Amino acid sequence: MPVFEKVVIANRGEIALRILRACETMGIKTVAVHSTVDRNLKHVGMADESVCIGPASSTDSYLSIPAIIAAAEVTDAVAVHPGYGFLAENADFAERLEESGFVFIGPRPETIRLMGDKVSAIRAMQEAGVPCVPGSDGPLGDDPEASLRIAERIGYPIIIKASGGGGGRGMRVVHTEARLINAITLTRQEAGTVFGNPEVYMEKYLMNPRHVEIQVLADTLGNAIHLGERDCSMQRRHQKALEESPAPGITPEQREAIGAVCVAACKRINYRGAGTFEFLYENEEFYFIEMNTRIQVEHCVTEQVTGVDLVTEQIRIAAGLPLSYTQDDIQIRGHAIECRINAEDAESFIPSPGVVQYFHAPGGPGIRIDTHLYDGYRVPPNYDSMIGKLIGYGANREECIARLKVALDEMVLEGINTNIPLHKWVLRDEGFKRGGFNIHYLEKRLAERAEAK
Ligand code: ADP
Repeated sequence: MPVFEKVVIANRGEIALRILRACETMGIKTVAVHSTVDRNLKHVGMADESVCIGPASSTDSYLSIPAIIAAAEVTDAVAVHPGYGFLAENADFAERLEESGFVFIGPRPETIRLMGDKVSAIRAMQEAGVPCVPGSDGPLGDDPEASLRIAERIGYPIIIKASGGGGGRGMRVVHTEARLINAITLTRQEAGTVFGNPEVYMEKYLMNPRHVEIQVLADTLGNAIHLGERDCSMQRRHQKALEESPAPGITPEQREAIGAVCVAACKRINYRGAGTFEFLYENEEFYFIEMNTRIQVEHCVTEQVTGVDLVTEQIRIAAGLPLSYTQDDIQIRGHAIECRINAEDAESFIPSPGVVQYFHAPGGPGIRIDTHLYDGYRVPPNYDSMIGKLIGYGANREECIARLKVALDEMVLEGINTNIPLHKWVLRDEGFKRGGFNIHYLEKRLAERAEAK
């Protein structure tokens, strides 16, 4: 007997295909939900059933809670997997699904709510003993004098952040006292308009941190484990471009220490499912910035170095089963790097939707490709430009990079522009080869490259 009879995949693209593959290996029937422009998605053709849930605009399809619940109802599904993005971190969605009698494959609604608000998340993490960035320890009030005193205590530069912010938006760096009050006012206004919540808080702005995050899994029986870290410092505009595991230079002792802190925090907040603790890492110290209560794009690198199928574990946990692994079972072996493949111009980063005329996937030892592309597939202009992920694995970082270089050269994708040339360039970059670069590295190198032209 499968753990669930039938699961609705409430997402699109590569992650929908990833979830479908996990369901099929577990003998679970699948329901694909899709918008009118997404009828030709690979997983839609493969799913046992499919339901059109609305027009191209995601507000009326992938973000429509009633449409997805209706699809679950008409197909007699048992559970819903939200993937990442769209409704994955929407507590109301999780709550309404559960009220309607469906299982939400993810954390409890109250956990999503707690972690979705950055101020409450930081407070909960401080109480759980997780190291956080020195900051205002709560939302900023209306008294300018009080804000000035907090900033003075923290020390400039500081960063003003929206409690409800996300996607790299709603943040403002302040270098001097003279600019503080104005920056708070502006961020508050922006946060109110964009996120519907004007609350802001303050943090020390770390100058040259790396982005290092810890993957966790927790079941409903009180077991929790960590699966090591991922380095996601290769970013452009706060968006990750390439991720790796393990993070260069992090020792097994450091991994065990920060991993144990995250596991203890999971137990304390009664966490359920897969999750990620995101940290900034500077001068050998970890500083918590936020928790993602879902599967992440870059989960694959962790799968490659641990051998754990994270999506299968998510589904098992949602069914009330115990984790398939204890902490001692988790060994980090080798090295994995993921290149996010986007339909965009490699230099201007302008999105490039259109028809994929010809697609030839690379292969060979240590090469994994997670993509929904096929010859003749039309990439619609309506959604995120990420069209797949190329993941390399090797016994060590050098072997992993060497395999990825060959794979990128081997991959043929005609008809649309992609950032494959950017990845080829990054893999040959000296700073990348050394590893341990900070979150500003890619933008700095891109600026140097533009200047040299
Ligand atoms: P979001 O939810 O919008 O992704 P995060 O809090 O995760 O926001 O921060 C996104 C990125 O912004 C981080 O990866 C880092 O590059 C930068 N950032 C956030 N907080 C700080 C800080 N205190 N100091 C330096 N950089 C920061």
